[in-house]
Amino acid sequence: MKTKAYAAMSAGSPLVPFTFDRRDVGDHDVALKISYSGICHSDIHQVAEEWGPSIFPMVPGHEIAGIVSSVGSKVTNFKIGDAIGVGVFIDSCRVCDNCTTGLQQYCVKGMIGTYNGLESDGETVAMGGYSDLFVINEDYALHIPANLDLKGVAPLLCAGITLYSPIKRWNVSPGMHVAVMGLGGLGHMGVKFAVAMGAHVTVLSHSPGKEADAFAMGAHSFVATNNPDNFKSIQKSFDLILNTISAEVAIDDYLKLLKLDGTLVVVGIPGEPYKINVRNLLSGRRSIAGSMIGGLPEIQEMLDFCGKHNILSEVEVVSADYINEAYVRTVASDVKYRFVIDASTI
Ligand code: NAP
Ligand code: ZN
Ligand code: ZN
Repeated sequence: MKTKAYAAMSAGSPLVPFTFDRRDVGDHDVALKISYSGICHSDIHQVAEEWGPSIFPMVPGHEIAGIVSSVGSKVTNFKIGDAIGVGVFIDSCRVCDNCTTGLQQYCVKGMIGTYNGLESDGETVAMGGYSDLFVINEDYALHIPANLDLKGVAPLLCAGITLYSPIKRWNVSPGMHVAVMGLGGLGHMGVKFAVAMGAHVTVLSHSPGKEADAFAMGAHSFVATNNPDNFKSIQKSFDLILNTISAEVAIDDYLKLLKLDGTLVVVGIPGEPYKINVRNLLSGRRSIAGSMIGGLPEIQEMLDFCGKHNILSEVEVVSADYINEAYVRTVASDVKYRFVIDASTI
């Protein structure tokens, strides 16, 4: 199927219009007309090869919301006209312990990513969501609740689930003090979900200009981290800290903000390893942990939760020819709070 897209042709090069063929719809596949595709900082890291070698040409994009345009003969779960979402993976081995318990993102053999890898046939380079149409096995696609606006839904497929999952895993609930590091695409979803779970939520941001927005999203407190003095009054205050920062930060400064038995969960993926002074873990029996997106049942649970509570990402909708500028602005933390490509402009 002829597909129009935007692609990076080599590491760090600007994205340009690109066409390629997607597979025809197989028996168990659905095709979707993409409505909106979010720009995740992971797209930027991979185009720039900050995580190691990438495959080019690369069509990034793993926050995809659209409408089903055709279904294979054996498809049972979707019909033409359904609102449908695709996230960070399009398949996995399906038989390992993690896949069979719905944790496909931790597939022992490795999940099959939506782009910058090979599809399950082991040959076709997977091409992502900065495109006008998509084809996916129905088992790896998600249902989008009918009451939700697709532009605000697209970022839920990565940014949303990446915060929802640790918020559930660490039982965020009323009375808990939760801090979110970085108010970007992931961070702002963390604020919304932690607030929805009833926690007391503090935003730790190096952009003081985001304070009013943080409160509008429901945060109870805002601390500007560009002034080191501001850390003094919040030592030993949080049960859980969710680190969404895309760049290297002095993680020890943040570990000291945890209460006894508190946990700092890292979801941001800077290219360089963190240095940690283990004394900050010992004193206070603190933990540092990681979390990666979420599995299919949990993504569906999150989308349904958003439908019920009317939770959406705050988005700035852009046309495809703005992608390169959106990358520059995202890297500069000038994002409010997710760029979303209007796929009709591709
Ligand atoms: P984003 O929209 O660019 O947000 C990152 C935020 O981090 C910025 O808005 C900024 O917030 C803060 N920040 C950036 N540079 C900083 C610096 N030098 N010092 C201090 N703070 C800084 O990015 P995103 O799309 O949310 O992604 C965040 C990270 O998570 C990326 O590394 C991405 O690859 C990763 N990620 C991980 C998963 C997973 O499964 N674990 C999933 C998706 C993405 P303030 O302006 O508020 O300070
Ligand atoms: Zn992502
Ligand atoms: Zn598996």
